[in-house]
Amino acid sequence: MKGMICAKCGKIAAEASLRFQGHDIKGWKCACGEEYFDGAEAERLLLFNKLQHIEFPVKLGQMRSNLILRIPKEAQRALGLRKGETLRLKIGADGKIELRTA
Ligand SMILES: [Zn+2]
Repeated sequence: MKGMICAKCGKIAAEASLRFQGHDIKGWKCACGEEYFDGAEAERLLLFNKLQHIEFPVKLGQMRSNLILRIPKEAQRALGLRKGETLRLKIGADGKIELRTA
């Protein structure tokens, strides 16, 4: 959606990058100052903020000779992860594993 009608003034709000809970997300901003956030993105960020610093138990599965890391659905949604996506795994000195989105 390129532009949307502003509920406050009736003009067209243009697509813009907006600040939401410390993150930049997609939305629309009107000349009158009114801002509209992309609902799905805002929801994902609220979940992301809620789940931050929570430790999830994750199970390893196996496919042929590879181990598969099973990421909990909530964490998957919060991070916006999709099947086939590449993550970066780093092994720390103390046995910690750091997993980052690319
Ligand atoms: Zn407006």
